[in-house]
Amino acid sequence: MRAPALSLMRSSLLPFYRPLSTSNQQHFLRQLFDPDSCTYTYLLADNTTKSAILIDPVIDQAERDVSLVRELGLNLKYVMNTHLHADHITGSGRLKGLVEGVQSVISRASGAQADVLVGDGDKVVFGSSSVSVLSTPGHTEGCLTFLHPAGLAFTGDALLVRGCGRTDFQGGSAATLYDSVWTKILSLPDSTILYPAHDYKGLTCTTVGEEKQHNPRLTKSREEFIKLMGELNLPYPKRIDESLPANEACGLQDLPPRMLGWL
Ligand code: FE
Repeated sequence: MRAPALSLMRSSLLPFYRPLSTSNQQHFLRQLFDPDSCTYTYLLADNTTKSAILIDPVIDQAERDVSLVRELGLNLKYVMNTHLHADHITGSGRLKGLVEGVQSVISRASGAQADVLVGDGDKVVFGSSSVSVLSTPGHTEGCLTFLHPAGLAFTGDALLVRGCGRTDFQGGSAATLYDSVWTKILSLPDSTILYPAHDYKGLTCTTVGEEKQHNPRLTKSREEFIKLMGELNLPYPKRIDESLPANEACGLQDLPPRMLGWL
């Protein structure tokens, strides 16, 4: 008698439940968090073949990520970065050392090294699943959004929940970001679930429909948005001096002393 009652309760909650992890017959998704940099890492897998990718892994969390991959019986194929991060060192290089055969992926426009360089319109295939590559520059020149056919988009720092990434360094441009977000991300169906690279307020994900209505920056006019982004006066990122040189080499070079022996 318990099973029907439980399933009834779950179905009644579903309309109000925004999952941190989703799983259906085709795909498996898990959202992971690095508390130091407030970075979200995503483990996305094809349920049929168990082939998996990690999006925006953090070097400090590489062993955690590998443990999860192994516990779930997944085969990690690619470690992918939405952009050349300035606030943490990518886990790509360390993960390549921990899992044989893994390949790193980043945009050609980032100027960084990786096994696979991609650009707008490319597809990254893992098992019988794939993500499409959308070029969404503006936060940096090489920012990408990865779009999964189940209606999931991994937006990096182009679009955050009720926010967006800064545009004042790494070739950033508020005008370019505004155009990228509106033409490539907010033009997707309203039901598309958006998974950002960071969140600083405890929020986890959002939808195109929500951001079109409630994003306090991107709902402004293009001119107002450019003015607002130019007046943010944000502090210098605390880990930029160690992150950029390392990330240009896939997180494999110029690591700070606390990470010696990690590779
Ligand atoms: Fe960033």
